[in-house]
Amino acid sequence: MTTWAIVVAAGRGERFGGPKLQTVLNGRRALEWSVDAARAACDGVVLVVASGDDPGVDVDRCVPGGATRSDSVRAGLAAIPDDADVIVVHDAARPAARASLFDAVIAAVRAGADAAIPGVPVTDTIKRVDGDVVVDTPDRSSLIAVQTPQAFGAAALRAAHADAGDATDDAALVERRGGRVVVVPGDASNRKLTAPDDVAALERALM
Ligand code: C5P
Repeated sequence: MTTWAIVVAAGRGERFGGPKLQTVLNGRRALEWSVDAARAACDGVVLVVASGDDPGVDVDRCVPGGATRSDSVRAGLAAIPDDADVIVVHDAARPAARASLFDAVIAAVRAGADAAIPGVPVTDTIKRVDGDVVVDTPDRSSLIAVQTPQAFGAAALRAAHADAGDATDDAALVERRGGRVVVVPGDASNRKLTAPDDVAALERALM
């Protein structure tokens, strides 16, 4: 049984205003924190970077990404060995993901799910809008906010990406094909490095 990770790091960091994955958090770059967590939990790591980037981290394979996150995941998927039976996809922009969270999603897939994703309860009320007009208010008790790492049976992930679909996470592509996606408890400190405001909270989480 072989588990590989795809760490996607080919985004442009536009909301951050620069190369956010090079941000130093408690003495190490965000990219290094993310890759090391994946290495600790998986047998191999494929890193996906913007074309021409030298990531300066130790990984098994490094490939250039694409225009969208889904394109970048597909570029990583093409570099995963055929004998991998579980594949974990992780956003390099979540440097505070613990190895135990990787272990939890991998275990859920090994127990039979097509995919396993970390989710945390939503504390704000969420509304669906059309421009500035509210369309409806979903029941908050049925909502979760979803993180990475997300684990997949290798065949399920390959099938989900076979028709070059696009979504903000890979689980959505599995759901569209009727796959069984289960939720494991996420970690509130596993926040995404999106804006400069996130740096202080991530440094606290990584202490
Ligand atoms: O843009 P967003 O924050 O959703 O990106 C999530 C992750 O996907 C980041 O780690 C980013 O580097 C990666 N990404 C990518 N290729 C893209 C867009 C985003 O690897 N074209």
